[in-house]
Amino acid sequence: MTFLDLLASSPPLFIASCTILGLLVGSFLNVVIHRLPKMMELGWRSQCAELNETQLEEVARYNLIVPRSACPHCNHEISAWENIPVISYLLLRGKCKGCQTAISLRYPLVETMSGVLCGFAAAHFGFGVAAIGACVLIWALISLTAIDFDTQFLPDDITLPLIWLGLLFNLNNVYITLHDAVLGAIFGYLALWSVFWLFKLVTGKEGMGYGDFKLLAALGAWLGWQMLPLIIILSSLVGAVVGITLIVALKHGRNIPIPFGPYLAGGGLIALFWGQTLTQNYLQLLGS
Ligand SMILES: [Zn+2]
Repeated sequence: MTFLDLLASSPPLFIASCTILGLLVGSFLNVVIHRLPKMMELGWRSQCAELNETQLEEVARYNLIVPRSACPHCNHEISAWENIPVISYLLLRGKCKGCQTAISLRYPLVETMSGVLCGFAAAHFGFGVAAIGACVLIWALISLTAIDFDTQFLPDDITLPLIWLGLLFNLNNVYITLHDAVLGAIFGYLALWSVFWLFKLVTGKEGMGYGDFKLLAALGAWLGWQMLPLIIILSSLVGAVVGITLIVALKHGRNIPIPFGPYLAGGGLIALFWGQTLTQNYLQLLGS
């Protein structure tokens, strides 16, 4: 019996494996969240320098692999045993081994989220391609959420591949038919694009970014056009509640932009797991 047969025949083992995989990938997501915005900034700077025909000062190689992870305060290099998801954080009591500076709670939080959601996806979809695809979607949505919080930006480097991947998975009707996936990608983009222009024409302000259109296009490609209204309603509801709370409780200025990406990602996750049930109940409610 191969390991794959074992995974296929034992749901608890499959769920445990996906949870561990989620924790490990979660650790890598922390690197992506931290480095991708900086890598993009370096890229823009070198493009500007090229355009102005100025020489850019030589910068050290910086990508997702190089340099090795180090403490941002004392440059203490993170060894393998300090890099075990969640466990290392607990063993180190949340402090850097070199300088005792508190390690951001976000690192174990991202790892835990990734582990728990991947385990849940394994339980929900069972052994097969759908569960693996759901894990990939979860990883992209976690990264996008954190990067949008930090920078108010959803990188094309994640949103665009996510669109192609959604179409690829649905080539074989993993979640929906390819027909629904293609329409989902197109209508997902157009839905927010039209809201953006309508809002801009009426108020003269830009209410959201192009990254939001691409993220909804990706969710449409994964989950189908039928899920778009649900995702928009869910994310607007949560976004409105959080936004109003921020304005009232923290006197958060009304004009300070609140990122919309995290709410879209949250709406997308709910639609991934419960979208079918929610829309069916809703349609039944309308029909009765
Ligand atoms: Zn340190």
